[in-house]
Amino acid sequence: MITRRQTVTVEVGGIPVGSAHPIVVQSMTNTDTANAEATAIQVAQLARAGSEIVRVTVNTREAAAAIPEIVARLDEVGLNVPIVGDFHYNGHILLREYPETAQLLAKYRINPGNVGAGQHHDANFATMIEVAKEFDKPVRIGVNWGSLDQQVLARLMDENTAQGSPKTGTDVMIDAMVVSALESAQYAESLGLAHDRILISVKVSSAPELWQVYRQLAARCDYPLHLGLTEAGMGMKGMVATSVALAPLLTEGIGDTIRVSLTPEPGASRKLEVEVAQQILQSLGLRQFLPQVTSCPGCGRTTSSFFQELAQKIQDYIRDTMPDWKGRYPGVEEMQVAVMGCIVNGPGESKHANIGISLPGTGEDPRAPVYQDGRLLTTLRGPRIAEDFQELLETYVERRYGRHEVHP
Ligand code: SF4
Repeated sequence: MITRRQTVTVEVGGIPVGSAHPIVVQSMTNTDTANAEATAIQVAQLARAGSEIVRVTVNTREAAAAIPEIVARLDEVGLNVPIVGDFHYNGHILLREYPETAQLLAKYRINPGNVGAGQHHDANFATMIEVAKEFDKPVRIGVNWGSLDQQVLARLMDENTAQGSPKTGTDVMIDAMVVSALESAQYAESLGLAHDRILISVKVSSAPELWQVYRQLAARCDYPLHLGLTEAGMGMKGMVATSVALAPLLTEGIGDTIRVSLTPEPGASRKLEVEVAQQILQSLGLRQFLPQVTSCPGCGRTTSSFFQELAQKIQDYIRDTMPDWKGRYPGVEEMQVAVMGCIVNGPGESKHANIGISLPGTGEDPRAPVYQDGRLLTTLRGPRIAEDFQELLETYVERRYGRHEVHP
């Protein structure tokens, strides 16, 4: 049982973020925001995959001007997912010049390392906070190690030197990121932004440093924390790195919203980052998004590809059917399905699932026993085992999770 670190709740476009609420999955587009059509299509794709908040970069006047059209296009298709604006360098200008955009965005992400240098830093930051107050919007103070506020870093380096340098350069940098985030949040509050209008993130690209940063943050404030490993990388490397980085913190109750920053493979769908985020939360038992398919790894007893194909087919079928099931069958996301390669562990695992199948291993009888709620339901044979099992699964879902009218 994971106990969440206590935080205030911050509303982001109607989505509550904080320890009293489920951990929120979010994502970010990689389209040119100025291209409203392409961006709206990608936001819709991410939202349909399960992203509960979507961030878009707002880096130019054209991008800022496109936000109303993006929101209108999403409205047209019935999607009101909160859109967050990611601002760097010119956010103070864009938010003032495009008040409709400032109104439509659900949250502003402010990087204190990228709001202007020297005397302009505080004034630019203050302008963004003024706009947030005016439109009653939350902000995320989002520090990133690649763009750390150099003034804060220099100050902490000097302090460390004055104390005889007891800390390593990395430790001072971690302190500087935490201090930058917390001092910026304090400054925002001193400007009148409410305590429950602030979230914090401090992203680094190494798991051990991420743990160090977030444990410090968690101990020093009660703002909700946005958790993510920045620049996680591509494909399997990015998924493993992110899972390894996020899991210990989530297990300690740290993190109220997460993003998986994957570099997509060329031509691959952006929604993979949403699916990975969901899987991380589901694997830790923090949220249920999809029925869990348990499949064994296969071994020398499964010498044909039939077993892998069936496991893949069932996973794809469940993922594709889930949007429909979700509305019709409350609680279906809790279902456990087992797809096992042979009768060694198959029936045992199947009995523990809601419904499970054990395929014939090499040299075994060509039959596939199916267990439902712990009892043998039937034994499938012949070339249509996959289709027959899919039908049994559909019937089970309908019977178990369907809303049946009770007749007097
Ligand atoms: S259940 Fe059977 S096929 Fe799967 S790993 Fe175990 S022994 Fe191998």
